[in-house]
Amino acid sequence: MSTIVLSNKGAKLMKLCELEGFKTLNHMLRRAAADNACPAICMTEGCDHTTEMEPDQDHGYCEACGGNTIASALVLAGWV
Ligand SMILES: [Zn+2]
Repeated sequence: MSTIVLSNKGAKLMKLCELEGFKTLNHMLRRAAADNACPAICMTEGCDHTTEMEPDQDHGYCEACGGNTIASALVLAGWV
């Protein structure tokens, strides 16, 4: 049995912003809110896999670590 350790939402949100190349968090959230495909990141500690998901996704499948641990930027920011 393995225990999935989830990271701090704020830390992952900043990481996602950095990995996706957005200069500010606000910029990324505004882009995400205006689009159907939202930047999303795996919440597992040590896995920073990023992809695009539905804006309200909070348990998407991670291709990198195999967990249902992908959360969208809007979910992490508490916008949805
Ligand atoms: Zn992962």
